[in-house]
Amino acid sequence: MQIKRLRISGFKSFVDPADLVIEPGLTGVVGPNGCGKSNLLEALRWTMGENSARSMRGAGMEDVIFAGTATRPPRDFAEVTILAEREGEETEIVRRIERGAGSAYRIDGRDVRAKDVALLFADAATGAHSPALVSQNRIGAVIAAKPAERRAMLEEAAGIAGLHVRRRDAEAKLRATETNLTRLDEAIADQD
Ligand code: ATP
Repeated sequence: MQIKRLRISGFKSFVDPADLVIEPGLTGVVGPNGCGKSNLLEALRWTMGENSARSMRGAGMEDVIFAGTATRPPRDFAEVTILAEREGEETEIVRRIERGAGSAYRIDGRDVRAKDVALLFADAATGAHSPALVSQNRIGAVIAAKPAERRAMLEEAAGIAGLHVRRRDAEAKLRATETNLTRLDEAIADQD
């Protein structure tokens, strides 16, 4: 998967819609302290499904919405769009949060669950917690990772992290079906 574009509106310091085009090769983002460089990476991780307000450097998830300044009123929503190319096809992933209404996700215009977005990125060997995205304070965490955490990183890098989620889902369905079968057997036995 190649991320080609990031559209940000109302997210943290990006009050006005901003469009970041990521050309092939190396992209550098430079600017003075506090100008919003880390907010860019956070916008990416947030759209990939990050659900920890703390790791977004806020107290609650609504803190990602532009909070207003002395000259600009706060916004009611934040929306970030990732335009990515997978196997030659373009995919658009959107996450939007509204004050008091929570988050919603869309993939190519269809409303989807957070899990669908997480799976899409996990299958592409990336995601909100992927070691491909290294924020300032995570370098130490990667070095100090326990073996199990390191294994999870390798699984993510290998693009198989999504399989664990699918396996858990399949096991839950299997258990539910077994319970239904047991109930059915009991109902049949009651009739005999
Ligand atoms: P540094 O180089 O110091 O790490 P940076 O360029 O990475 O800085 P960020 O940390 O991305 O900067 O941006 C911080 C700025 O974002 C601060 O000015 C902060 O006020 C602003 N900011 C964060 N959340 C919001 C919000 N919800 N509404 C408005 N502005 C916000």
